[in-house]
Amino acid sequence: MNEDCCICGEPLNRENSSRCYICNGLFHMAWSITTDTSQCGNYWLSNEFCGLVFVCARCQEGLSLGGESSNQSATS
Ligand SMILES: [Zn+2]
Ligand SMILES: [Zn+2]
Repeated sequence: MNEDCCICGEPLNRENSSRCYICNGLFHMAWSITTDTSQCGNYWLSNEFCGLVFVCARCQEGLSLGGESSNQSATS
């Protein structure tokens, strides 16, 4: 495995990377909080996909996820 994170450009290890399901890019996703790997994306449980879904930070911005199921309409 010789790929770089699509977000920060740092090299990835198999242990700390995940693939974005939107852009298919690999990004840093540390499985252990004891590692000092930066998190370049996020994941959440999806009913649509019946499992964990991984998204890189860039795509997550586009999706504006993380609404925590509360329909608060921010008027900023
Ligand atoms: Zn990264
Ligand atoms: Zn992505």
